[in-house]
Amino acid sequence: MYLQIVIATGLRQEFTYLAPDNAQGQNLPKIGLRVRVPFGRSERVGLIVGLSETTQIELSKLKPITELLDETPLLPSELWQLGLWAADYYQHPLGDALMHLLPAKLRQPLPNHLIQLNWHIADVEANFGKAKKQQAIWQKLQQLAPEFNLSQLQAIGIKPSQLKPFLDKEWLTTSYPKPQMVTLQLAQKGLELNLEQSKIVEHLVTAQGAFSCNLLNGVTGSGKTEVYFHAIAHQLEVGKRTLLLVPEIGLTPQLLQRLEQRFNNRVLALHSDLTEHQRLNAWQQAGLGQADIIIGTRSALFTPIPELGLIIIDEEHDQAYKQQEGFRYHGRDLAIKRAADANIPILLGSATPSLESLANVQRGRFSQWLLTQRAGQASSQSYEVVDLRNQPQQAGISEQLQAMVQIQLELGHQVLLMLNRRGFAPSLQCQSCGTAAQCPACDANMTLHRSPPRLHCHHCEHQQVVHLYCPHCQSNQLKPLGQGTERTEEQLTSLFPNTPVHRIDRDTTRKKGSLKGMLEQVHGGDPCILVGTQMLAKGHHFPNVTLAAILDADASLFSSDFRGPEKLAQLLVQTAGRAGRAKIPGTAVIQTYQADHPTINILVSQGYNAFAEQELASRQQSGLPPVGHMALFHAQAKDATQAFALLHWLGQQVQNPELQPLTKALLMFGPMPAFMARRAHYYRAQLQLQHPNRNQLQQLLKKLCQLLDQHPAARKMRWSLDIDPQELG
Ligand code: ADP
Ligand code: ZN
Ligand code: ZN
Repeated sequence: MYLQIVIATGLRQEFTYLAPDNAQGQNLPKIGLRVRVPFGRSERVGLIVGLSETTQIELSKLKPITELLDETPLLPSELWQLGLWAADYYQHPLGDALMHLLPAKLRQPLPNHLIQLNWHIADVEANFGKAKKQQAIWQKLQQLAPEFNLSQLQAIGIKPSQLKPFLDKEWLTTSYPKPQMVTLQLAQKGLELNLEQSKIVEHLVTAQGAFSCNLLNGVTGSGKTEVYFHAIAHQLEVGKRTLLLVPEIGLTPQLLQRLEQRFNNRVLALHSDLTEHQRLNAWQQAGLGQADIIIGTRSALFTPIPELGLIIIDEEHDQAYKQQEGFRYHGRDLAIKRAADANIPILLGSATPSLESLANVQRGRFSQWLLTQRAGQASSQSYEVVDLRNQPQQAGISEQLQAMVQIQLELGHQVLLMLNRRGFAPSLQCQSCGTAAQCPACDANMTLHRSPPRLHCHHCEHQQVVHLYCPHCQSNQLKPLGQGTERTEEQLTSLFPNTPVHRIDRDTTRKKGSLKGMLEQVHGGDPCILVGTQMLAKGHHFPNVTLAAILDADASLFSSDFRGPEKLAQLLVQTAGRAGRAKIPGTAVIQTYQADHPTINILVSQGYNAFAEQELASRQQSGLPPVGHMALFHAQAKDATQAFALLHWLGQQVQNPELQPLTKALLMFGPMPAFMARRAHYYRAQLQLQHPNRNQLQQLLKKLCQLLDQHPAARKMRWSLDIDPQELG
């Protein structure tokens, strides 16, 4: 028998191996099993994707696999299918895609069965003869009788490998713990739903067991989370599990807390703080049905979950759902595919839905459910646009805004100021010759940081000491230019000396638990100023915040990315949504030099949905996503001409008359330099393809990848393909 095996090599290729000689019974190769195989001069872990009786390859060239690592496939068939589908859709090498679905530990030749296994001790008359060591271990094991698991074993200082002799003699037998039944165990009664909330919850009750895609479009604070909880409760009632995806668990410890307060059920959180070992453990627990509610970030989408009844995606518009490197899948889109395959409903929630989802509502593929009011006793929030032209400013804060902040603080409220730039200042400029401190590896300025003092490139993480003299003209007149959160914090502290200022950005929250600590202080409710990056805009519920201001709306107004206005609108509305979430009404302030900008105007006067409708109409005209479809080839090389040459060649292939049936309606741009033409010493070029027909584009991309795979220059270079790119850089 010949085995078709894929390995995470980055190659779009399957490898043929021979089955082991002793292949029979438990040892029979099956599709989906992991294997250890000789590969070049080393060994690799692979997955069996096919079995055949014949092969084209000369027998002398084939090697047998070293070992079968599993007895049964690790991935349940629905995830295996999802992996195959995703590899095909995103044109990602199958070995890399399938391996990506496994926890990192299982991409190594680690036997899978240990962790969740239960060992049972048989009641036998043990006779050891001279084997004194074995006898000692056996006696030690008796204290765990009649059965034990891995952690109990480790607690008494015995390794699983030491159990082998007893397993061989069948004095020990093993089993997997049985999945436990799912039942609803409420710790706290849910809130009485309002009419809009009940409608969607009722729909999900009746939609049980059939695929439907539901967009919960609800203004900030309208009770989307409450809807999720009611929907989850219903799943538990009927014995089903729920997968809840969130953009970043670390940013919203509150959601997890609320979930655990509401349910006494087993909640499993898959977040980025887990060690690889914990992740493996959690993955296996989920697969064995030992959790009822699974909450996690993007990759949690690949968690095996028996009796999955519902998938929920919170903040579905969030960029974090798109993996931006390697296997560039979109978590939301794959979750929809998973729900469709499993025949279950999926619920996408947001106050600022992506244009993709809104377009799907227009096309009739998604049902939309609106929550138009803030829930419960929460009041609403109103907008105020502060025109920065001809206004004195301090710390990047206009006098008008300063006065508003002062009033709120005096009333005992809290204030939130968002500035989407961390560090002290975005650049350090020489006053004599005008040169700004540049990253040696990138086409970018380095950011000045104060604590600790350094110049830091946010694109390649290059760091260096702050120079005292200009490297170009030796002048010592160096000046920080612009505002970062660190600088704003410093200036706010002197403007409002009696008020605590909490800065929340990647730098202050790097340490485990530090964000949680700061959030707890804010929840204490005393007057304070929160200053930070877009981390502040994400889903937090700050009841005492009555003023939320965006200090630098202009930074994103003139983005060269066609999604610029959409991203800006989402950020503005999400930030604004942090104000007025309790009984006191809130104000959202937008500071801008572009007070008449159409995006700002329509958001302020008519709200996000009106903006989105207009934006969607303009995408319609230009054929841009989500109306048309897009793919982006990237190439990077240390030599600037190489990356361009490769994409230039690719562009020529696209124009091959044979491909005409697929390229008639195609728009091609480039090759052109990426927005940042050089990053981390690599020159970056891109080729952008836009097509009204997804199917034709997919066929074309497949052909182009095949051509690239055969092109000698492509093998020496890093190139990648981003399908449905979220960023054009
Ligand atoms: P969202 O997720 O849309 O931002 P939440 O679910 O966090 O909104 O709800 C915002 C606030 O409103 C919370 O304090 C929540 O307890 C409250 N709330 C939600 N639904 C209701 C309801 N039906 N009745 C009373 N209060 C509600
Ligand atoms: Zn200079
Ligand atoms: Zn750099």
